[in-house]
Amino acid sequence: MNDAPIAPQKSWEPSHWDRETDIVVIGAGATGLPAAIVAREAGASVIVVEAEPDIGGHAITSGGNVPLGGGTSVQKLYGIEDSPDLLFRDLTDWSVVGPNGFPDYRYNDREIIRAFADNSAPAFEWLVAHGVVFVDKAPDALGGNSVGNSVPREMHCAVMDWPTVQTGKPADPSLQKTRSSGNGLMRPLEVAARRAGVEILLRHRMTQIYRQTPNCGPVLGIAVRNPGADLNIRARKAVIIGTGGSTGNVNFRRMFDPRLTEEYCGLAGMPWSDQDASGELAAMAVGASLWGLYNQTGEFGANLTKPGTIGCQYNYRNLRWMPGSAVFERARATGLPVADWQDLILVNMLGKRFYDETGGQYIANNYNSVDPYVQGSYLNAKNFKYAPNNFLNAAMAGIDDGHNGGGPIWAIFDADAVAREAWEPTPPHVDRAAGFFFSAGSLADLAETIVMQYQRVPMPPKSLAETVARYNSFVDSGVDEDFGKPRPLHRIANPPFYAAWGTPVVHDTRAGLRINARCQVIDMNGAVIPGLYCGGESAGGFSQHGLARAACQGYIAGKAAAEAPPLQGFGDQP
Ligand SMILES: Cc1cc2nc3c(=O)[nH]c(=O)nc-3n(C[C@H](O)[C@H](O)[C@H](O)COP(=O)(O)OP(=O)(O)OC[C@H]3O[C@@H](n4cnc5c(N)ncnc54)[C@H](O)[C@@H]3O)c2cc1C
Repeated sequence: MNDAPIAPQKSWEPSHWDRETDIVVIGAGATGLPAAIVAREAGASVIVVEAEPDIGGHAITSGGNVPLGGGTSVQKLYGIEDSPDLLFRDLTDWSVVGPNGFPDYRYNDREIIRAFADNSAPAFEWLVAHGVVFVDKAPDALGGNSVGNSVPREMHCAVMDWPTVQTGKPADPSLQKTRSSGNGLMRPLEVAARRAGVEILLRHRMTQIYRQTPNCGPVLGIAVRNPGADLNIRARKAVIIGTGGSTGNVNFRRMFDPRLTEEYCGLAGMPWSDQDASGELAAMAVGASLWGLYNQTGEFGANLTKPGTIGCQYNYRNLRWMPGSAVFERARATGLPVADWQDLILVNMLGKRFYDETGGQYIANNYNSVDPYVQGSYLNAKNFKYAPNNFLNAAMAGIDDGHNGGGPIWAIFDADAVAREAWEPTPPHVDRAAGFFFSAGSLADLAETIVMQYQRVPMPPKSLAETVARYNSFVDSGVDEDFGKPRPLHRIANPPFYAAWGTPVVHDTRAGLRINARCQVIDMNGAVIPGLYCGGESAGGFSQHGLARAACQGYIAGKAAAEAPPLQGFGDQP
């Protein structure tokens, strides 16, 4: 993760400008590309700067499930009655809580949600008009995450014949119109952007936003670092931040949850792109406020997730990097997908179990999760059974040594588990070289072998051996006396023994910069920062997973920025 600090504000205006344009968009992801296209088609000149060598951000690695509703043409086609009002009330419903007792929507900013509800269906039609093909079926609830309960809204971007970033190859032709993928969202938008005349500067990382003075006046443009030279790009009308959030920045994310120390290094979507808080930090350096902070720590959705694969650094459950991928050299391993958590035990740095391994992550609210659901009814919370999923909390509890963070979590298993799961515990499936996978002939040797940057205390060999012996006794008796795992099934006894990285994964950012209905960034005094806009995961006040809010806010920001008069110093504005 790139924790390089954003440069402190040096001078308010740089000594020179290298480029000038109406609108600069930072980030070519789910927010940035729609913003850029909308603005360009409204007549503005637009430069997009993208830190990575390719466009797409997390959006292109995503599942392409897009919960845009409020009365889309497809909802109408399938007789689903939705409206902006229904969507607004769903996404501000105080009464919905999850099994951990946390509400999904209660702390949403009404102004931001109203803007989303009003623009949701138009943004959907706009995506279709700009080449995004959706799987030809009724909206459903698949892949949804805090999308409201009243009606199904989830649409799915068909992967089509674009090579997927995960494999470097197109999907099987028989699946191209039915399989959902972020490629099917972002590649058509890239084509539309280039066709419209948007200039996209790849490998250009924004390092600073220039404003007239630290706390007043309009933004002036941005500084960009690229492999050749640093550039200052002047913006006549607006700078739009679409940098994708902050959960890859350890110090930033720890403002919301002190437990999230360095070992949570497998951010979903990496190594395709980071979410290093660079947009938030650059905006805060010119006075911007953060917003909706509860949404980052609430125990719901996919802010933190249980891994889906083990033995590699990037182990998000819905993303596997394959050797053909352009980023495989950085991903280094595909990981071993876990079909059955009965096949292993999970231990902390001290070699101790901490929870039932079959336990799940936090639950996402979705259509049909509250049954019966009546918008705003006090009965919704009463009808929801308090049934906490505390796997993640136990994994992050730490080892009582005064440090924050739970440290590495290791999946411990034996040769029999390898056979049951049909794993190949060798590179490129596992990452031995960087210390995310180990094996040994005995449990004591295995514990001693575990040496890597995040294992800050040695694993006591005796402790691991005792843990496994105790677990094997639970298998024999059929009762997990320590963590209530439902009927432990398999002894761990047949060497070689393995330790595979199984540490929780950070994912969504749901808190970020304060914006208003036009996606203008707001400062600490509650005033608009003239010329500065933001959307997607870098914007706060909206608790929802992913693509819909990003694309919709990009659509809103692009339109608002293009309609705005030139900033002070460019003629029209006093
Ligand atoms: C594996 C995975 C699966 C997902 N599946 C779904 C799904 O099915 N449905 C759903 O709704 N959501 C899904 N999401 C979430 C969704 O992809 C994101 O919420 C969404 O892409 C956020 O959009 P964004 O524009 O804020 O950020 P991004 O799409 O990540 O775009 C941000 C861009 O900004 C660039 N950038 C960052 N900093 C700088 C800088 N300083 N200078 C220049 N460029 C910079 C980044 O490189 C990146 O390209 C998924 C995410 C992942 C990782």
